[in-house]
Amino acid sequence: MKPRIFYTKPSITEREVAYATDAARHGWGSACYDYIHKFEALFREHIGTEFAIPTSSCTGALHMGLAALGVGPGDEVILSDTNWIATAAPITYLGAKPVFVDMLADTWCIDPELAERAITPKTKAIIATHIYGNLCDMGRLLAIGERHGIPIVEDSAEAIGSAWGSRRAGSRGKFGTFSFHGTKTVTTGEGGIFVTNDADLYEKVLTLSNHGRARNQPKQFWADVVGFKYKMSNIDAAIGCGQMERIEELIAGKRRIFTHYAEALTDLPLTMNPEPDGTTNGFWMPTIVCAKETGITREKMQEAFRADSIDARVFFHPLSSLPMFESRPENKNAYDIPGRALNLPTFHDMTEADLEAVAGTIRGLFQGN
Ligand SMILES: *Cc1c(COP(=O)(O)O)cnc(C)c1O
Repeated sequence: MKPRIFYTKPSITEREVAYATDAARHGWGSACYDYIHKFEALFREHIGTEFAIPTSSCTGALHMGLAALGVGPGDEVILSDTNWIATAAPITYLGAKPVFVDMLADTWCIDPELAERAITPKTKAIIATHIYGNLCDMGRLLAIGERHGIPIVEDSAEAIGSAWGSRRAGSRGKFGTFSFHGTKTVTTGEGGIFVTNDADLYEKVLTLSNHGRARNQPKQFWADVVGFKYKMSNIDAAIGCGQMERIEELIAGKRRIFTHYAEALTDLPLTMNPEPDGTTNGFWMPTIVCAKETGITREKMQEAFRADSIDARVFFHPLSSLPMFESRPENKNAYDIPGRALNLPTFHDMTEADLEAVAGTIRGLFQGN
């Protein structure tokens, strides 16, 4: 039996361990926010937004951001059918309706034209998720948002390292959100962050994030609105500080892995994450989509990977195919592509031999053995 190749695991060094240990030993009392503040500053600097609020998850950051935009019962929020459930869930928490539109076949991100067509008087926001690190067409989405007076939100949970020139994913929309779950490029175990350049929105989310207590409220224990409790812990933030000090290395690691796969698979009839001119893809999740005529299905790939002790991760199911949502089979790409796609293993400590093994399994499939 070959040793198993995991699909993902974080890169944790002595630096993160030392900071977490320091936080556990000394990070209490007057020092109980020190790592949180440091992490927030490091992240803000990296992304290039004016404001940031660390949270316990990306889901929580999205929940608060959408609440601050005034999303409520009866409202609609447009997003790609191809998404992780965490992007849609906060919409439903607020009593609003997620409106699922199809993705583009090449970027696997929301189709701007379909998003515009789905706008109704009830639309309160459009969420642009940069899927697997691939960038949405933000230029077009922002123009649509401007034309209709609708904010564009960037769910950038998968887009650390992705950028248009020097402008990083998450910094261009009304607000952006990130996840630091253990599978993501930067981890704090569990965690997330809300980022924005909008001072008013920041103030609103800051109040919401503090159980509805505004920071200029002089009365102690006085809440002006019902807020949320999605705070990041100081110990988690300490791990995050170690990660942010290694951010360039973490991003470079994802690129090394993607590049190896792309070169090893270059002559096969499949497509992988695109990286248009003038942009950088953070390559969170290297993904292959087999050409239709090959007849290679997700199930065939899963079987071959299993036989070789390699973890395979399926491409996101269309959210509208889940039992709690209304089915939207007219979203052709969202329903077609997952059936012939797979996410490949990607973690920092992958050796050349691991990468060769994965590429070898894929080549074997195309050679029919
Ligand atoms: C991981 C992920 C989330 C959720 O992040 P959590 O920190 O687990 O809440 C949201 N959206 C996308 C696109 C994700 O990949």
